[in-house]
Amino acid sequence: MGDLVSFRDFTIKDYHGRLQKGEFSVEELVKMFLERIERVDGLIHAFLSLDSERVEKRARELQEKKPQGELPPLWGIPIAIKDNICVKDLPTTCGSKMLHNFIAPYDATVMERLKAAGALIIGKTNMDEFAMGSSTENSAFGPTRNPLDLARVPGGSSGGSAAALSALEAPLALGSDTGGSVRQPAAFCGVVGLRPTYGRVSRYGLVSFASSLDQIGSMSRKVEDCITLFEVLSGSDDRDSTCAPYPPFSRREIPPEEEITRIKVGIPKEYFSSGVDRSIVKSIEEVFHLLRKRGIECVEVSLPHTECALEAYYIVAPAEASSNLARYDGVFYGLRSEGDTLQEMYSHTRTNGFGREVKRRIILGTYALSSGYYDEYYLKGMKVRTLVRKDFEEAFQTCQLLLTPVSPCFPFLLGERTMDPYQMYLADVFTIPSAMAGIPGISINCGYHDHLPIGLQILGKPFEEGWIFGLALLIEKLLSLPSPLPHLESRKGSEQ
Ligand code: GLN
Repeated sequence: MGDLVSFRDFTIKDYHGRLQKGEFSVEELVKMFLERIERVDGLIHAFLSLDSERVEKRARELQEKKPQGELPPLWGIPIAIKDNICVKDLPTTCGSKMLHNFIAPYDATVMERLKAAGALIIGKTNMDEFAMGSSTENSAFGPTRNPLDLARVPGGSSGGSAAALSALEAPLALGSDTGGSVRQPAAFCGVVGLRPTYGRVSRYGLVSFASSLDQIGSMSRKVEDCITLFEVLSGSDDRDSTCAPYPPFSRREIPPEEEITRIKVGIPKEYFSSGVDRSIVKSIEEVFHLLRKRGIECVEVSLPHTECALEAYYIVAPAEASSNLARYDGVFYGLRSEGDTLQEMYSHTRTNGFGREVKRRIILGTYALSSGYYDEYYLKGMKVRTLVRKDFEEAFQTCQLLLTPVSPCFPFLLGERTMDPYQMYLADVFTIPSAMAGIPGISINCGYHDHLPIGLQILGKPFEEGWIFGLALLIEKLLSLPSPLPHLESRKGSEQ
């Protein structure tokens, strides 16, 4: 039957081929992943909860009612879900003590779509509390470790999802990206992560952090699977008024390779500054070289407001978070810590329920929105946001796509940045501007330095994910890198 390590380069198509031939059943496939989780997750802690019994039952049901002919797009494929996306009857903790006992009473729109496409929800993944962070160390339930180097962080805030993919604990995952939380952990774990155009995927059932920025992203080991997943997730939704009235993405929107090789790609000079690790720059320059050989023109462009984007984000996102997180008051959801008065109950609940980073953001955001400071901070932040968006519009006048590093640094050591929030914030310096502009971007692996992966970011025009996928597929093919294969079992063995 084979094992997951020998399936490491499998796409959904490959799994479907084997399922069709009867080489293994859906139930056996799910068992392989559950067993792998059992064996290795003690080392990395990618999952906060598993749904083993139900997923096995559902796998049996699927197998019994196996359709004749073509299978639904995600039929029988396990998927790991970030713990801020509501899955009916499963815990949705957002990595917070505040929601430690919260069971979602309904399915997010993306969950309905996944289930209808035949996907199997295997469990919920670890994350920075309320998606605030870049290392998954802000989880109230302990950090996740990078499967490629257990001393290092997997990135964040969707670190659990990225680590689960990298460790072969799941073939697909969902994350959420407010300022980089899908792309940066994908880069740190050597996998693929797409942040869609703002409004292309419904946010209904995603616990809000900063509503004008939050998007649910598709994560996988190969670009091909990211496309399939995005086809299932995307499309309009009446229950989310910010969701664009567009049909779901179709792979027919991906231009053929000969068209891709005729485009002009922009290299924003601000993303290659002295603050970026030289090995990362070198690896990305090799990609430019390969693309030029295939006839793609790579030209330097400028996004002059790149540096201000980070500052503006840390006004706008906390401002929205301070308002969104006001709902956790001990009355409707999750934790309640009693007090003698109502005021005291609120205060005890929020003091006990939220961690340090979340409190920092709430205080920052409340301050930025307070009367007298609104114009000076929030309004100014929004004006900078417009300038950032205009930078991209200008660049896209001459280029079809932009290519940048995902992160200026390699996955750092656990604990290395926890005491210095600014250092932590800098991990997202290259993913925040595009999030502020609402444009789509993907992170794919473009090489390794020692054993640590390097992420390449492809940014595109709004609603033009097709071009991004087209170039991502071409780069993946040209590089043909080995997919991540952490030797977790042997390490576990040697530790015992
Ligand atoms: N790391 C950034 C933050 O802490 C982005 C987080 C995210 O995209 N959810 O805000």
